[in-house]
Amino acid sequence: MSVQPEQATEALMLLAEATRLLYEDQPLQQRVHRVFELLRGPVSFRDARLTCWLQSAQPGTARQQYYSARGWPYPWDEALTRRVALNGVFESRTIVLSNEAAGDGDLPVMQAAYLGTPIFWGGRLWGVIELRAPTGTNLVNLGREMLTGLLPQLAIAIAREGRREPVPAGLVPVSETPTGLTLEPQRRQQLSELDTNLEQMLDLHELLSLLLRRTIEATGADAGAIVLVDHQRRQLILQLAEGYPTSLQQGLTNQGRQRFNWEAGSAGQAAHTGQVVLVRDHTTQTGLQPTWAGARTELAAPVLLGDRPAAIILLHSTRANAFGEDELSFMRALCRRVANPLNRAIHYQEALESANYLGQVFASLPTGLALIDASGKVLRANPAWSEIWGFRGALTRSPFHVSFDLVELLLPRLQDPMRLTEFFTRCQRNPAELQTTRVRLVNPNQNLQILSVPTSDSQHRITGRLWAVTDVTREGEADRLKHEFVSMVSHELRTPLTSILGYTELLLNREFTAPDRMQFMQTVFDEASRLSQLVEDLLSISRIEAGKVQLNRWLTSLHSIVAELTTQLNTQLARHRMLLDVAHNLPPVYIDRDKVKQIIFNLLTNAIKYSPNGGQIVLAIKETDEADLPLDHPPGRWIRIAISDKGLGIAPEDLPRIWERFYRVDNTNTRRIGGTGLGLSITRALVELHGGRIWAESELGTGSTFTFTLPIPGVNVGFRQRLADSV
Ligand code: ADP
Repeated sequence: MSVQPEQATEALMLLAEATRLLYEDQPLQQRVHRVFELLRGPVSFRDARLTCWLQSAQPGTARQQYYSARGWPYPWDEALTRRVALNGVFESRTIVLSNEAAGDGDLPVMQAAYLGTPIFWGGRLWGVIELRAPTGTNLVNLGREMLTGLLPQLAIAIAREGRREPVPAGLVPVSETPTGLTLEPQRRQQLSELDTNLEQMLDLHELLSLLLRRTIEATGADAGAIVLVDHQRRQLILQLAEGYPTSLQQGLTNQGRQRFNWEAGSAGQAAHTGQVVLVRDHTTQTGLQPTWAGARTELAAPVLLGDRPAAIILLHSTRANAFGEDELSFMRALCRRVANPLNRAIHYQEALESANYLGQVFASLPTGLALIDASGKVLRANPAWSEIWGFRGALTRSPFHVSFDLVELLLPRLQDPMRLTEFFTRCQRNPAELQTTRVRLVNPNQNLQILSVPTSDSQHRITGRLWAVTDVTREGEADRLKHEFVSMVSHELRTPLTSILGYTELLLNREFTAPDRMQFMQTVFDEASRLSQLVEDLLSISRIEAGKVQLNRWLTSLHSIVAELTTQLNTQLARHRMLLDVAHNLPPVYIDRDKVKQIIFNLLTNAIKYSPNGGQIVLAIKETDEADLPLDHPPGRWIRIAISDKGLGIAPEDLPRIWERFYRVDNTNTRRIGGTGLGLSITRALVELHGGRIWAESELGTGSTFTFTLPIPGVNVGFRQRLADSV
């Protein structure tokens, strides 16, 4: 319904008059009174009230209320006023007027029309203006029009009145919140103390503890608890409990943050209605189960964030009717004031928890991670970051710039420093792009994969990069092994097969003299032996890797093994001189005879193979003690077996790798010599199966010494017995 034209003119004139009245130089009370009288007829209300919050020079606000003189005797409904203050304009054709609360039963209960408008102007709530009229009166149209028109003038009048000092005589200032709560001075004091404390608190637990303690003190409750509301799961999460009997208290607090279904009890009801729930006496009031069996009075007050309860303060008393209007008002005011600090603390807690969680993930990931700013400075790095580059402690250099510090520190190990430098440049030039590269380090050999991802802030502005560095050496190793296996097998198979096929074809197709035939047959035999050795080596290595090799150990004399081997190898020693330096008094060793023979055989054949120009080969065996062993060798009594040659020698960078499967030193000499790269890895595995160690010393062009140890068994009954058995 809109206002008719004639009504509009009338309304404008009224507005002009009311505005003039409001600007007169009289106390506000008189001016408001005259405005009400002016409007009473045209708007046809029965009574009117202006509630305003004057901002005085003292802290807080003072509420004053001005009534129209000839009103109904019915009291105004403060809850309605509060509702208008909180939620805006409220109109109803049928509110109930009664005077029960004042105990004046003579007045008949009646219905009325109601219109309440907040005086909200200039970003602030100044007051609430309310009109009541007999039902059927068209309050809403003109009334609303008029009130809306008057809002700025009323706000200005209230603002001016507030600045007057002192507060007009006869009006007792009461401190309250603009939503209409009147509080005793003592309560005010309690609230404002709490306010100051809460404002400074960020820690959720600290805040809730203080809140609960103060609430219990202020309301005289016997016990209380605070729960947070989980709307998604419709649950309450217990945060704190205080004052309950020891057994219950321990049960509540020991089990950490317990969750409860929110359907049950007063706290649940407060959580899903957002209203304060008060059970005055559990013994007479049915409906809600007491949260604590010992309680008679129970109060559950929700702290609302927006219109959603975020927490419930639960208070219990063993007395009936322990909480009255005073406590209710206090709790309402308290819950409103707590809302902001609680919201802040919950967010802070969430931020802390997620930061903590992310921090743990960051610290425990095996990938090296570093957050880097736009200039390349490391802001934060996890432990794996320093470890992966192999410079523990070097990151103490502060600030640390990836672009120069990293390259400088890695320079001795970087195989291709330019590659890393180019990578920085690429990252710098394209700050919003993901970049990736691989870096190869030597000493020890390491392949690293770098992923550099742009990072941005909450406004989506690029802030720098996150570097994630992964060690991919093992993956590279697997690739290398595959590659080397294929090339070795193809070479080692093809070469003997080609000569076997070639010579047998010759033998089949042509006649040869007996000595020639012998020579061809010998070559075929040698090549077939080489093939058989290859197959044997491949089987050995796969058995060793599968853990299937078991030692068949006996107490054995090494002299017999040496004797057998020298006879066996004699034919191959055309260009070499073999020197045996074997101690006479060697104790017997507890070994697998065949395996140890294989170890020495492998080392001797290598010594022969890799000294193509001949020279002296020494096989030295003696008992030794710790002084004669490498530093990291286990202590005890050992037999030390060393095989030296005066051959090609091994370069220092190859020395640590000769034990790897399929690893062959790659140069013209070794290529000519041929081999599988398996011998030494099998040898090492067999030595270690016996509990010994093996190592090599070598100088390129001078020769090599391969040494291994075998433990001398402690003399005990078991060994004596076996010794006796084996003799
Ligand atoms: P293979 O001899 O079949 O190549 P090994 O595992 O026995 O495989 O040896 C690995 C590598 O170590 C050889 O390719 C060779 O380069 C080097 N090597 C082993 N023994 C000696 C030695 N006595 N002198 C020089 N180099 C050696």
